Formats: sequence, structure tokens, C-alpha cells
Amino acid sequence: MNVDILGVKFDNVTLPQAVSRALALIEKRGGHYAVTANAEILLNTEYNAHARLALTSADLTLADGISIVRAAKRLGHPLKERVAGIDFAQSLMQACTGKRFFLLGAKDGVAEAAGERLAEKYGIVISGTQHGYYTDENAVLEKIRESEADVLFVCLGSPRQEIFMLDNRDKVGGCFMAGLGGCLDVWSGRMKRAPKIFIALKLEWLYRLIRQPSRLGRVVKLRHFTPAIKRQRRAEKH
Ligand code: UDP
Repeated sequence: MNVDILGVKFDNVTLPQAVSRALALIEKRGGHYAVTANAEILLNTEYNAHARLALTSADLTLADGISIVRAAKRLGHPLKERVAGIDFAQSLMQACTGKRFFLLGAKDGVAEAAGERLAEKYGIVISGTQHGYYTDENAVLEKIRESEADVLFVCLGSPRQEIFMLDNRDKVGGCFMAGLGGCLDVWSGRMKRAPKIFIALKLEWLYRLIRQPSRLGRVVKLRHFTPAIKRQRRAEKH
């Protein structure tokens, strides 16, 4: 079952259910992909058809942001829970001991540093890494195919990562992909995830804003989200 929010169909799953869906997609080896979407991505893709298609073509659409969970409730179709991209990825790695992961994105050196930590913590194999500021996409795709990865974490920021997954699903050698934003920065130790109290109070976004004031413009744009949800609610009533 899924829940439609501004035209994007979110899978109504718990974290463990999301992981089992992903495990099944890994086995299929069809270049399937997961998006971890929040209000910002929904708003940004309203006027970007390519990014919108990348979002709506995903095989698994997870509610990464708390505002998505709140909107679902307001629309009368509550989601079971928030499935943050980073929690999803970590639980997936836990269930994938011995599998091959390729880490794509972030600044030079970050994916390698993250890979060392993740391999040790989860017993996964890091089959390759690549920073996210490359110019030759074909060379990157070749590297991914040669690595024979089972899973590719695409951490290029939105909507670039979603577009990368849509456009290249036939070119990655069949691995399962997940778009995960700034996760590599956290796993490498360069960026801290919000303390548990912020997460429990549903204020992870505020912690990220305090740590990175340059995100202010992104947060301000979110004022358009609630009116958009109200419009959807009115439209659904008629
Ligand atoms: N990034 C990248 N290539 C680019 C632009 C961004 O690899 O061309 C990386 C950036 O270094 C960061 C991640 O993408 O590691 C985006 O992080 P952000 O915090 O914006 O994502 P969020 O978690 O908010 O979706």
C-alpha cells in the first residue's frame, strides 16, 4: 500500500519492512532503486519534470522527512513511521554482511573514509568508491560495473542523485541503488548526525540548520509545503 503526497507515492512501510523490500530488490539484480524523500525534494521537483520522473519511477519510496509523515496524517492516510535514509541504509548494511557495496558521492576522500568504517562495522565488502564531483559519468559507470557491486549508495544530493539513478538503472550492472544525500559525510566522521534528543523531538532538521547555516534558504522554501498539502486535502474532499 502507498500514500500519495503531492503526486509522489510513498511506500507505507516500517523500517524492517523497507529493508526486506530492498533485500528482495537486491536479489532481482535489475538496477532497481530507492529514494528517501522529504518535503524539500517534493517542492523542488514540482517544476522539474526530469527530477519528478526520477522520484516517481523509484521501486521503493521512503518517507525520510518528518514533514512527510505529518502531511500523510493530515491527509487522512497516515504512514506507519518515518524511515530516515540513514537508518534505512544502516539497517540494510546490517542485513547484508559479505555483500558488495559501492559508495558514490561527497568530496574527495570522504567515501573512502566512510567505506573503511562501514566495512569494519557491518562486515560488508566495499567494492569501490568515487567522489561526487566527477566530470566523466561514463567512466564512473564503468567503474561501478567493474566493481560487481550488489548495492550502490548514491550520495550526490537531490535531485542529482535521483536523476542519476533513473538515467543509469540499465548501466550499473544490475545493482540495487539508494539515494542517500549527506550520509557519507556522517559515516566518514566529518559530519555529526543530530543527537538522539533532536531526533526524538522531531527536530533533526533544526540541528542540521544550526550546524550548517547555509541550509537556511532550503528551510525557508519549506513554507510552501503546508499550503500545498492543504490544497491537496481540499482537492481530495471534492
Ligand atoms: N554532492 C556531491 N556532488 C555534487 C553535489 C553534492 O557529491 O555535485 C554531495 C555533497 O558533498 C554532500 C551530499 O552530496 O555529501 C549532499 O548532501 P546534503 O546535505 O545536501 O543532502 P541531504 O542529506 O540534505 O539530502
